[in-house]
Amino acid sequence: ARTPVTVTVTGAAGQIGYALLFRIASGHLLGNDVPVRLRLLEITPALKAAEGTAMELDDCAFPLLAGIDITDDARAAFDGVNVALLVGARPRTAGMERGDLLSANGGIFKPQGEAINAGAADDVRVLVVGNPANTNALIAASHAPDVPSSRFTAMTRLDHNRAKTQLAKKAGVTVNDITNLTIWGNHSATQYPDIFNAKVNGRNAAEVVNDQAWLEGDFIPTVAKRGAAIIEARGASSAASAANAAIDHVYSWVNGTPEGDWVSAAIASDGSYGVPEGIISSFPVTSNGGEWEVVQGLEISDFSRSRIDASVAELVEERDAVRALGLI
Ligand code: NDP
Repeated sequence: ARTPVTVTVTGAAGQIGYALLFRIASGHLLGNDVPVRLRLLEITPALKAAEGTAMELDDCAFPLLAGIDITDDARAAFDGVNVALLVGARPRTAGMERGDLLSANGGIFKPQGEAINAGAADDVRVLVVGNPANTNALIAASHAPDVPSSRFTAMTRLDHNRAKTQLAKKAGVTVNDITNLTIWGNHSATQYPDIFNAKVNGRNAAEVVNDQAWLEGDFIPTVAKRGAAIIEARGASSAASAANAAIDHVYSWVNGTPEGDWVSAAIASDGSYGVPEGIISSFPVTSNGGEWEVVQGLEISDFSRSRIDASVAELVEERDAVRALGLI
């Protein structure tokens, strides 16, 4: 039998955690032949709720679930970890300044980066979901100097999936007909969903749609503000779709992307497309089953350039702010 893969989920007792853990345990994260050992990290007051979720996981009798550990100690949670899903974060609350938000998250992601550095397995792969995800990933990575920075990523796959469905609806096709979409930049309202390099049944999506007013007035804002629209409709944040995107991200990373297509993920920039090196920004990426690679040589129109630059400028500001706070 295969050795179980250790998967650590932080904020495991939260909404996203609840939607995520059952899918990990049933084989959707890594493959339906890969046993997993779950490590649930929570803050002390949420340990009891995490235990409740673990009881339900037990009650599913998942054949691939090799064990569950629950802890409030980051060192224990990340000891030997292969896949780390950093979901728990300090959300922005009313009246909170950006500096306070970044400081609060620095207090979470700095020790987690240190614990990953100290104890993670050599092949560790980290996905940050908790917001502000790109900058939280930057903080964690900067406290894990012995782990290659390419192993720290942030999630824009939900934005990617949202964009895919919106484009499919506009083009009157299904998501299966859409390929080569890209989310550029920050997982925030400045993100840029790019259809100029996307395809609808192999044809250029921007030409198929041929509607700049829809692109600027409908598509881009719908994708960028979808989270707020879900809160408005459900009375709660998106959770199942965020969990689903986390599953997609790790599955693609580990098992590879299909020939001829790519996905979106926020990874440490190597300077591609003029994005300053080191910033965790979303790019079109492929995986050969292990490492993300930025898709090179795409044509970037003036319109796309200005949108990408605006989102990257926001990431540079966030980086400078956490640097000024001494968090990186
Ligand atoms: P959720 O599980 O709903 O969300 C967790 C994080 O994911 C938030 O930062 C949220 O950001 C972010 N997120 C990213 N993308 C999305 C998306 N598309 N839709 C919704 N959220 C998204 O939060 P809960 O409050 O239910 O649970 C958080 C849990 O984390 C709690 O149990 C808490 O105890 C725990 N926690 C654990 C820590 C740790 O293990 N050290 C540290 C801090 C918290 P946003 O708020 O901006 O939507």
